[in-house]
Amino acid sequence: MITANRQRAQPSTRSWQQLWRDAVTDPLELLHLVGLHDQAENLLPDRDTGFALRVPRGFVSRMRPGDAGDPLLLQVLPQAAEHLPQPGYAVDAVGDLAARSAHGVLQKYAGRALLIATGSCAVNCRYCFRRHFPYAEETAAANHWREALGAIAADASLDEVILSGGDPLSLSNAKLDELGMALRDIPHVKRLRIHTRLPVVLPERVDDGLAAWLSALPLQKVVVLHANHANEFDASVDAACTALALSGCTLLNQAVLLRGINDDATVLAALSERLFAAGVLPYYLHQLDRVVGAAHFEVDDARALALLDALRQRLPGYLVPRLVREIAGEKSKSPL
Ligand SMILES: *Cc1c(COP(=O)(O)O)cnc(C)c1O
Ligand code: SF4
Repeated sequence: MITANRQRAQPSTRSWQQLWRDAVTDPLELLHLVGLHDQAENLLPDRDTGFALRVPRGFVSRMRPGDAGDPLLLQVLPQAAEHLPQPGYAVDAVGDLAARSAHGVLQKYAGRALLIATGSCAVNCRYCFRRHFPYAEETAAANHWREALGAIAADASLDEVILSGGDPLSLSNAKLDELGMALRDIPHVKRLRIHTRLPVVLPERVDDGLAAWLSALPLQKVVVLHANHANEFDASVDAACTALALSGCTLLNQAVLLRGINDDATVLAALSERLFAAGVLPYYLHQLDRVVGAAHFEVDDARALALLDALRQRLPGYLVPRLVREIAGEKSKSPL
């Protein structure tokens, strides 16, 4: 039994595109919705962070009303701490933004090519490396599509294509279909992997058309979700995960270790359990990319390792994620 299934799914008659456009973008409105309007003065930064608030209403509905420390709220609410001095933090923390926009395809790891399908996201996570380039959207993908596919077709060592972004499921089903057709014609590509947070933040995105596209695609399919806290799940997210699984996808999750949000063994264990209840296995637990504006989320390595150790003692091995960091120039993610 999935105990977290208390809330019933609320089938929406609105398309995911409408729900996307209807996202909350005004910090004051967000505080109103979660009953924290009184505390606006304390909670909101007194100047622009340069990275707008954006959060779908369904995700807001999973926040605990009246709790300024809510783990979902803290992932999306601009905070004054973003303006603190951040030595060692950079604008381009993972060191490959130049490559991203120039080619749309990144091949850093053996056998896998990562395609920057789009820069768009339905949510703006405060710790994201995108925070300094939120407007590089819409343009990159369309223009570099063909070029990127040509590069993948020309390299027979690639057996896996990873769609990343931004959020690749922000593309329309028609656009995904186009991509799928091109990929199925490349004989050495066996697997398609999709890195997406949409099934968590806007589960309505997993509509019948997407399920049909995935089901028909003659490739092995892996969907790597991104959830950082068990509270991000409700019945609507469970339904999206089930639809993805029934479409033949293997479901994994990557989380980011975030101070004040999930840097606690009980919280991380609950996340693993909740993922599994939704049919998802924990894959990676990432140390934060050191991007300017995110320093207040950092958990030091010693503490991260202690948390992982505590997880190993509590959980079956398959529910313990791999703790990693991305280091520019390395041939894989680096285990801590
Ligand atoms: C993270 C990443 C991958 C995927 O790595 P896995 O360890 O296979 O999950 C592939 N390419 C790039 C450029 C990446 O950053
Ligand atoms: S969903 Fe991923 S890419 Fe989009 S803002 Fe959040 S962390 Fe960044």
